[in-house]
Amino acid sequence: MDRMDRTDDELLDPALLTLRAATDRIRALTIANAVRHAEAARTCLAELLAVNCPGPHTYRQHRDGRPPWCETCRYTADGARIAQQARSRST
Ligand SMILES: [Zn+2]
Repeated sequence: MDRMDRTDDELLDPALLTLRAATDRIRALTIANAVRHAEAARTCLAELLAVNCPGPHTYRQHRDGRPPWCETCRYTADGARIAQQARSRST
């Protein structure tokens, strides 16, 4: 039996087809679960950022090429902290 025959046999084996279908369903469920977890994590992060911001928590697009960030707490919606930049001495 060569490799090609084995592949044909595997494709025709009902048990293997069932296993492949089950594996595809498990993959889909895992992705769906991961999406739900990611959505829950984003919601939790958004709440944490808003609660811990000392002032009005508002994202604004600045001219620094970064994603919008809050001027009060200096966080982006993704939770990245924007470092305070040293003021330039040039005039
Ligand atoms: Zn803020």
